[in-house]
Amino acid sequence: MSSETQYDYDFLVIGAGSGGVRASRMASGLGAKVAVIEDSALGGTCVNVGCVPKKLFVYGSHFSEEFEAAEGFGWKVGESEFHWPTLRDRKTAEIERLNGIYGNILGGANVEIIHGRGVVTGPNTVAVGEQEYTAKNILIAVGGWPYVPEFPGSEHVISSNEVFYLDEFPKRALVVGGGYIAVEFAGIFAGLGAETHQAYRGPMFLRGFDDDLREFVANEMQQKGINLHFNTDVSKIVKNEDGSLKVSFNDGRELEVDTVMYATGRRAKTPGLGLENTKVEMRANGSIVVDENYQTAEPSIYALGDVIGGIELTPVALAEGMALAHNLFGEGGRRVDYDNIATAVFSQPNIATVGLTEAQAKEKYANVDVYKSDFKHMKHTLSGLPERTLMKIIVDRDSDKVLGCHMVGSDAGEIIQGLAVAIRAGATKAIFDTTIGIHPTAAEEFVTMR
Ligand code: NDP
Repeated sequence: MSSETQYDYDFLVIGAGSGGVRASRMASGLGAKVAVIEDSALGGTCVNVGCVPKKLFVYGSHFSEEFEAAEGFGWKVGESEFHWPTLRDRKTAEIERLNGIYGNILGGANVEIIHGRGVVTGPNTVAVGEQEYTAKNILIAVGGWPYVPEFPGSEHVISSNEVFYLDEFPKRALVVGGGYIAVEFAGIFAGLGAETHQAYRGPMFLRGFDDDLREFVANEMQQKGINLHFNTDVSKIVKNEDGSLKVSFNDGRELEVDTVMYATGRRAKTPGLGLENTKVEMRANGSIVVDENYQTAEPSIYALGDVIGGIELTPVALAEGMALAHNLFGEGGRRVDYDNIATAVFSQPNIATVGLTEAQAKEKYANVDVYKSDFKHMKHTLSGLPERTLMKIIVDRDSDKVLGCHMVGSDAGEIIQGLAVAIRAGATKAIFDTTIGIHPTAAEEFVTMR
C-alpha cells in the first residue's frame, strides 16, 4: 500500500479559523486530500468573536462623535438614541453570512468539513466522537481562548466571547486589561453611551507600543470621557441584588458597574486536545512549540496561528497557513518573515504601527533620529472636537533607513498599511522626503516631516 492510500487524508486540520481554513484551501489546491474539523461556527475567533464583529462595533460606536461633529458643519442633528439589539443582531446576521461564505469556500476548494470536536489519539489519528480518522499530516490550528484570572467574584465577569451577544447593553462598564482588546472595547462601550472605566495593572497600558503613542492615546481616551485607572487591579467582585456589580480594587477603592469585561490576554486552546498521546511539546501556558516550518516534536503534526503563542494576528496565521501548505504540498522553501509586521489597534482614535519603536531603535542603533508631528486633523477645525493626531517616524541616521512609523488618529490602519510596504522595501527618509504628498490629507504629514 502506498503512503498516499494508507491514510484517510493527506492533511487533516483541526480548527477552521483563519490559519486552518487558509492552510486547508491551499493544501487542497495543491492536490492534497484535505479535511478540516470544527466544532463551532466556521471562521474561528476573527470572524465570530474577534476582528470582524469588533470592527463593526467600532463603526457603530463612532456615530455618537460624528453626530457631535456634524453640528460644526451646519447640521442640526436631532435627539439620537442607541438601540443595542439592532446593532447586535445585524452584526450576528452578517457573521452568519460570513460563516456561510466560509463553508462555500471550503466546499468549492474540495475540503471536507467534519463537524465535531477533534481529539488527537496518536501521531496520525484524530477522533471525532466515535469516529477515528487517519492522516499523513495533522495540523493543529485551534487558536486561543480568553484568559480570566481567578479571584473572588471572577465568575461574574464576561470576556470577548460573551460581549458580542449581551442581552442588554450596560449603562456602566469596566474593562480590565491594557492590551488590544481592552483598549478597543473601552472605546466601543464609551462610544455607544456607557459610563466607561478601564483598569490596568501597570502604570501605562499598551505595553510594547511606542511610548509616545501610549501616552497620547491615553490622553485622547480620557478626553472622550473614558475613566482610566492605571496601577489598578481588581481584588473582588460582588453581585448586588439588582444584578449590578460592586468591584473592589487593590487600593481600596470601589466601583459599581453593570458589566465587567476581562481582556487579560488569551491562552492556547490545547486542553483536552489529546496531545499527551503524542510527542508534541507545549509550554507552561499550553501553547505548542514548533520549528520554523510549524512542525512540532511529533514529525507528522504541525501547528500554527494563535495556538503556537507567537504574534496573535489573523494575517500572520494566514501567512503561516499558506507557507505550510506550500512547504508540504507545493514547491517548498517558504518562510514567513516576521519583521516589520504592521498592526492596528481599533481604539478611538485608532493606533497603527509598523517597525521599531523609538526605544527599540535606540537599543539597536547608535544614532537614531525621531520625527514627530502632533496636530489637529483638518476635520476638527470645524467639528469643534478636541481630537488630535500623532505621527512619528524613526530613522537610522547612519543609513537613513526608516525603521518605524507610528500613528494615532483616524484611519491610522489605512495609512500605515501603505507605509509598511515602503519600510519592507527598505525606504530611506530621503525617499519619504521626495515623495509628493496627497493634499489635503493627514497622511501627507508622513512625507513632509522634517
Ligand atoms: P494582550 O496580550 O494584548 O493584552 C493583555 C493585557 O492584559 C495586558 O495589558 C496585560 O498586562 C493584561 N493582563 C494579563 N494578565 C493579567 C492579569 N492576571 N491581571 C491583570 N491584567 C492582566 O491581550 P488581549 O486579550 O487584548 O488580546 C489578545 C491578542 O489578540 C492580542 O495580543 C493581539 O495579538 C490580538 N488582537 C489583535 C487585534 C487587532 O489586530 N486589532 C484586536 C484584538 C486582539 P501586561 O501588559 O502588564 O502584561
